[in-house]
Amino acid sequence: MTRTSQKADRFTESVIRETFRLAAQHGAINLGQGYPDFACPQELKDAACAAIAADDNQYPMTFGTPALRAAIAEKTARTYPGWAVDPDTELCVTCGATEALVAVTFALLDPGDEVVMFEPWYENYQPNAILAGATARTVRLRAPDWGFDEAELRAAFGPRTKAVFLCHPNNPTGKVYSAEELAVLAELCARWDVVLVVDSIYEHIHYLGPGGYLPPALVPGLEDRTITVNALSKTYAVTGWRVGWTVAPAPLTTAIRKVHDFLTIAAPAPMQAAGVAAMALPDSYYAGLATRYRERRDLLCEALERIGFALRRPDGSYYVLCDSAPLDPARDGTAFAKRLITEAGVSCVPAVSFWRPEHAEEGRSMVRFAFPKRTETLRAAVERLEALTPR
Ligand code: PMP
Repeated sequence: MTRTSQKADRFTESVIRETFRLAAQHGAINLGQGYPDFACPQELKDAACAAIAADDNQYPMTFGTPALRAAIAEKTARTYPGWAVDPDTELCVTCGATEALVAVTFALLDPGDEVVMFEPWYENYQPNAILAGATARTVRLRAPDWGFDEAELRAAFGPRTKAVFLCHPNNPTGKVYSAEELAVLAELCARWDVVLVVDSIYEHIHYLGPGGYLPPALVPGLEDRTITVNALSKTYAVTGWRVGWTVAPAPLTTAIRKVHDFLTIAAPAPMQAAGVAAMALPDSYYAGLATRYRERRDLLCEALERIGFALRRPDGSYYVLCDSAPLDPARDGTAFAKRLITEAGVSCVPAVSFWRPEHAEEGRSMVRFAFPKRTETLRAAVERLEALTPR
């Protein structure tokens, strides 16, 4: 007899993976999954190839090569003056942000613990909590600006709360949290002695100009209780390379490193070498990234608005969460997303799984488009969407 765990039975396969398969089957332009269809910087490719050629192909130090940890600490201090990260005790390099989030969850949570997270959410946070035996208490982010209600947030904290997971800039809503919103979180985390886990994988992809993104680790009161999760994946267009990291106070890092070692041993050595090259890119790289993403955001959002979707342009990340109700009187985002694939040849993601099943009504008519694509790809997708007839 084959028996699987009750934990594994409590969640389904990510809808994003399912949509990915259907999109591939129908040759659809994939605006579902958030991966770039353009090249990463040449410096990264050269460094990865050179590392392989130089036989840098064995297990590296489990929590990251000294060179990459030093480079991340240097780049962090350069980007955010005043943020001093000790590469020896406060950094752990992981296999992407995905593994970092699992390692952090297991390092922090025991069965019976509670963790606060926001809905709509990034799909991994809740399954991770389930696997750790912890309970998710959710706080809703509401359109149009996708902020949280302070009273609802206060009510989610209690004596069992161990951690809060915050995606900032946010996938899927595009929200970038303000200093005031982070101050509320800081007060609550201090009052209940809670760790704030910040998924900052879209740190450099925002449209608020220099200084528009405030790292929670620099917010007064959060310095000693924040774990920042990051990765090469989005900033440098290398989602397939699987290199991420955590920055956290030393005692938390010690726990994260132990879990990480048993999960994966280490992130791939040649890709860590490429990470060193990534950290050395000049500041102009990040400014150019934000400018190019703003153009893509505006191109797609302007077209989606014209076609009839209801949306608020994201302040950050490379997603736009839209209400498809004006084009879909049945208000069934899942059926609508399938129809987009089969009839228009464009894929997006039905957003309903970004909410708990009991709150699914809030996301029922919503879909998420991703725009980390060449402008030609986006233009071709728009042309196909324009041919779609409302029904
Ligand atoms: N966090 C968020 C918010 C994401 O959107 C993604 C990728 N979709 C990840 C983490 C996973 O990142 P990685 O590829 O580095 O594992």
